[in-house]
Amino acid sequence: MSELTAEDTFRNLDAIDFSKLEWNTELANNVNSQEKLEQYIYLSEEQKHSMKEVLDTHPMNIPRYYLSLINPDDPQDPIRKMAIPTSEELVVAGQMGETTGDPYGDDKHNKGNGILHKYPYSALIVATEYCSMYCRHCFRKRLVGLPNDKTVENFQNAAKYIAEHKEITNVIISGGDPMMLPTEVISKMLEVLKDIDHVNYVRIGTRTPVVYPLRYFDDELIEVLRNFNQYKTLYIPTHFNHANEITDLSKEAVMRIRSAGITVNNQTVFLKGINDSVEELENLMNGLVRIGVTPYYLYQCMPVSRVRHHFQVPLKRGVDIVAETKRSLDGYAKRFKFIMGHDIGKIEICGRKDDVLVMSQIHSRPEHPEEASRIFMGHLTENAGWLEDLDLMQ
Ligand code: SF4
Repeated sequence: MSELTAEDTFRNLDAIDFSKLEWNTELANNVNSQEKLEQYIYLSEEQKHSMKEVLDTHPMNIPRYYLSLINPDDPQDPIRKMAIPTSEELVVAGQMGETTGDPYGDDKHNKGNGILHKYPYSALIVATEYCSMYCRHCFRKRLVGLPNDKTVENFQNAAKYIAEHKEITNVIISGGDPMMLPTEVISKMLEVLKDIDHVNYVRIGTRTPVVYPLRYFDDELIEVLRNFNQYKTLYIPTHFNHANEITDLSKEAVMRIRSAGITVNNQTVFLKGINDSVEELENLMNGLVRIGVTPYYLYQCMPVSRVRHHFQVPLKRGVDIVAETKRSLDGYAKRFKFIMGHDIGKIEICGRKDDVLVMSQIHSRPEHPEEASRIFMGHLTENAGWLEDLDLMQ
């Protein structure tokens, strides 16, 4: 009998109807070890060697569905780069400059009980630290993959904090990926939030429509979301980064969410070698509006350890790509803002005039209210990739 080639194995994945699989049992088939990965992808001796070292720091977890989107003949495949570890992750800092484990200031704004309270009006609950896939570019890279059931147990306390802080108008349930929690747990969480009067709306941040759309073939989940949405408006922010992620199955997942009256917004991360060209961004944004997903943010990749070196696009190049992309997109497709999610607040990158970058701050820390909505500028260098790399103008 002839040996199974990687191509054959991928053909086998193509034959699976993922919409018919139970979402919670299919997780057991996730590719989470080098041995499992080698059943699908050829790895050189050098790749095997570095993978062990990378996996010790940031585990791998790839659903078979997402793996099936990879073109096994293309080493530069964008899906592959987002899912499969490489030796680039061993570079803690690198040509793009210094890195940190916590660029968004999560630690500083952690109120305990899994609550991050950074802006007065928004509270973020870290509901779980598990994801159906561990993205190689994740900015919460230091968190995911570490078991921590405590955050779920503490949800009641998190809700108590929100109830006591009347300035909180909206809640983000995040993680990890909250849609990995059992439907009954999601239901209980929403039930608690339903009765907090001053909360106008709730967001559930999840990448499952992209990497694990079979989650939405659970009719009970759709009903839970639909019911809550009748009391308080629910939004699903998701995270498509490339047009190849827009498939019949992800489209169906989005349709099911939308059938419950819920708006799906998208937050893309700008990633070198994945979507850093006019053509890729155009295809992505046009693809999103085609399936009823609103392009919302395009995030500049954060200076995260083991991410920045190989994924961050220099701001000067990035701002030109965004400007040119927007020129050819219609009004709905270009609704996204190009954003730096900085510790001092969210900063929109508006454009550049020669080597001067023009920015507008759209959220600020409570202790610096004067910074909210300010326009400011900084001098660019070829490799500048983050606010600290800019020489700010007074
Ligand atoms: S799904 Fe989101 S939180 Fe989880 S690894 Fe990917 S980017 Fe990070």
